Amino acid sequence: MLTSASMMPLSHANVLKKRQTMAIKNCVRLTLLMWISRYTMDKFIRPSFQYCPHCGAKTQDVKIEGQTVKSCAAKCGFANFDNPAPVVAVIVETPDGVVLAHNTQWPKGMFSIIAGYVDPYEIPEQTAIRETQEELGLKAYDIRFVGHYMFHAKNQLMIAFAVKAQGDITLNHELDEYKLVPVHKLKPWPGATGDAVKDWLANKGVC
Ligand SMILES: [Zn+2]
Repeated sequence: MLTSASMMPLSHANVLKKRQTMAIKNCVRLTLLMWISRYTMDKFIRPSFQYCPHCGAKTQDVKIEGQTVKSCAAKCGFANFDNPAPVVAVIVETPDGVVLAHNTQWPKGMFSIIAGYVDPYEIPEQTAIRETQEELGLKAYDIRFVGHYMFHAKNQLMIAFAVKAQGDITLNHELDEYKLVPVHKLKPWPGATGDAVKDWLANKGVC
């Protein structure tokens, strides 16, 4: 016969309740850890090139000019120098403030300036104009170089620009929320894009 918790002596009911609370807490903790791990793995995973992408042979570490390079053991010519990928970050300043956007893949509440990979045959200034148009639906003008920054976790060389833009913002499929932050209220955050914002504000004499 099953006995409900309410019929148990008080001490047993308390023990049961404590166990249930602990189980819920552990479940929440585990879910959170799995979510963070998955987010980190998805976002920051880098190819290890254990096998040659050209011929499928195993790779081996070879020292070339002091750098350890993954090279094809079958000597087909493949070698991965792990060069960083160029990415452009854009500080978009509108009459109502700087645009910070939320990517659909990011945790809720995380906002940043927009960014995107440099396309083939594109120079970084063109990327800044294209990304502003594609991601926000705005025409960029008065394009200024801000600086170079390394995003080591993703092996990206971030080239930052500041542009001016005006008009109605239309987010593309990558973004689902944005906010306009007045320049004097903009606070830099840790990381490459945050460093770009910090330098840009410093150049304007804001902080
Ligand atoms: Zn090969």
